[in-house]
This record gives sequence, structure tokens and C-alpha cells, in this order.
Amino acid sequence: MLIRGARVAIDATKAMNRSLWIQGGRVSFSPIREAEDLVLDLEGFLILPGLINAHDHLEMNLFPRLGRGLYLNATRWAEDIYHPYDTPIKEHLTVPKDIRLCWGAIKNLLSGVTSVAHHNPLHPILLDSEFPIRVLKRCHWAHSLTFSPDWLSTFRDTPTNWPFIMHVAEGVDESARREVHVLAEAGALTDSTVLVHGVAIKSSELMLISSSGASLIWCPSSNHFTLGRSLDVSVLASDIPIALGTDSSMTAAGDLLDELRLACRIVAPERLFEMVTSEAARILKMPFGFGRICHAGPADLLVIEDDGEIPAGSLLSKYPQLVFVKGRPVLASSNFAEKYYPSAPSRGFFALQVERRGLYLIALNAPSLVHETKKVLHDDLRLAGKAIAA
Ligand SMILES: [Zn+2]
Repeated sequence: MLIRGARVAIDATKAMNRSLWIQGGRVSFSPIREAEDLVLDLEGFLILPGLINAHDHLEMNLFPRLGRGLYLNATRWAEDIYHPYDTPIKEHLTVPKDIRLCWGAIKNLLSGVTSVAHHNPLHPILLDSEFPIRVLKRCHWAHSLTFSPDWLSTFRDTPTNWPFIMHVAEGVDESARREVHVLAEAGALTDSTVLVHGVAIKSSELMLISSSGASLIWCPSSNHFTLGRSLDVSVLASDIPIALGTDSSMTAAGDLLDELRLACRIVAPERLFEMVTSEAARILKMPFGFGRICHAGPADLLVIEDDGEIPAGSLLSKYPQLVFVKGRPVLASSNFAEKYYPSAPSRGFFALQVERRGLYLIALNAPSLVHETKKVLHDDLRLAGKAIAA
């Protein structure tokens, strides 16, 4: 495929007009004649690198928010909501897991996410090369100090060029803050360590984390729902690398675009752009080319309308028109497809109506997913809080 006429993001603040040839799942800045079987003229559009969601639990995104907060820490939240034999958890867990994982992929694609760090075991469907979104595989993870007694051996088994990801300091009390010191004392605070949440971190922990090279994943709406606050501004302003994540709809308010729109109240758009692209790729130790658009890099792309703003500004006001993963279009807005990509419906795309976002075509059999899911959840179908219909 050849894409021409669009502006292509170089980084958070710069974009330039250039053509992209896509072949073998990669981007080329130099012409490839054989890749010109399909030509998309995208004048008036801006192409961004596909976004990286640094934290999700993919199979948990049909759930409503659970809990009657606020809580002192995540353990208290988990104890309060853990009623697997009661409504609504009982019904949601009855929906087959592979179907719930597909919904997790769709939630992410709808927000322009092409790579996600999934914080649960890798179900076989996530290893299928046809699964429409990239799921991070070169990582080790543990749930938390409380729920993963073997966390330290998992950390020690983590290859040095992989991240070790764990929920840490998810709370506002002393026990949550203390968790950072438990990691440090065990020698588990290194440049491979990625702390999810870190809400309890205060100035006393900043130096410890900063000097270790460890990183953070920030999930603002989830934190506000369970704890009443999120990362301290001193943490956000520190030199600690931070990526943005959604967490699941059990606690979060929406998808990664919703998180960006919440986070921009306290963090500059340029930094946020990096938190979902280049900074996230570095933290998750992803291979060459992720989190940016470069020659020979992966063809994971997010196409939005171009309003002439810097890429970081447009990301905060626009919604996806077209999303590529591994060079394959996997999501298109209906209006966009009608005008610019009329062959989409014949290429295995299915329609899905999404509340507040409109009609999208996606490379998963949405009508079948809706049908199977409704057998259990009936008509109240919500994906990350938004009503959906085939
Ligand atoms: Zn989580």
C-alpha cells in the first residue's frame, strides 16, 4: 500500500508531508513499486504512530465499574468487590474469555492503540497472528505484593532486556507507600522494574525510584475512582519515565483517548504524547521503531483528521479514522471508509456502533461477538463504559 498526501508525525511537536510505502508489515520512506497495489490519498489527514496502552486487563472491559469507594489501597478494593458468584461478576465471567479478550482488543483499537501491555496470562488467542492488536509478550509480570507471593522469583527470572511489571503502591496509606521500599530492599528496583499506579509515592520515594532507573505506569481515572486521587504532581514533574495506561473498565472511565483527555488537565500535551508513544516503548523495552514512525519500523499507524495543530495537540481533540497494525488496516470510521477506503467492507471488516464515537468498521466479526455476548449479558452491552451495538 502507498499512502500519500498526509502529514506524518515526526515527534510530539513536528510533522511533515511525506509518502509512506507499507510492505511486509513495515514502513518504507523510499518507493517500493510492488507496494503500490493500493493507493490511499489522505490529504487533510495526520498520521501518528499507533498508540501504546501500557496497562490493561483485556478480558475485563465489558465490566461496569465495581466498588463503593473510596479505599485506602487496592487490596481493600479487591476484597470489597470480590464476589464471583454474585451479579454482575457472575454473568460477566460466564462470557467466554476469548470473546472478552476480543472486546478488549476492540476497546483499544477504537482509541488508536496498536500495542497493549496485558496484565494477565497470555491466553492462546493472544498468541494468534490474526489477533488484531499487538500484545506485549517480551515481559514478565506479577499482580502485586499481596496477591503474588512468588513475585520476587518472577522478577529474578526476568531477562535484563525485558520489563518486569507489577501493581505497586496502589493506595494512599502507609502500607501502599511501604511497598516501594520492600522492592528496593529485595534488590527488585532496577531499570527493568515498571511500577503500575504508584499513587502512594511521596518525595521520600522519588529519589529511590529515580536513582534506580525504574519507571511508572499512570492510570488516572482508575486511581481517582478507587482512591480519590492519582500520582502526585511532584512525581509527574520528576525525571522518572512514565507511560499512560487505561487499566480495565472495572475501575477506569474509558479508553486511552479518555485517559489522555483527563490527564491533559495536569500534564502538557507534548509529554502526554510521549507517554503513549516513545516513552511507553522505552519503558516496555519494545524493539526498534515502536512508538514512532520511521523507515523500516513497524507499520502500526493511527490516522486522524489534520487540523494543522502539532501532533500532540491533534491527539487530544481527534478520534481515529483509520488504524493499521503490522501494516494491515484493522479499524476505520464508517465515514472515512466510505470516502477514502471503499474496498474496506470487502476486506473482512464488520460494523460496530459505539456510543459517543459513531459507526466503525473493524477487522473482527463484531455482529457475532455481540450475538454471543448478548446470550449472557442481554441488551446492556457496554465496552469500557460506552454502549455498543452491531
Ligand atoms: Zn491493573
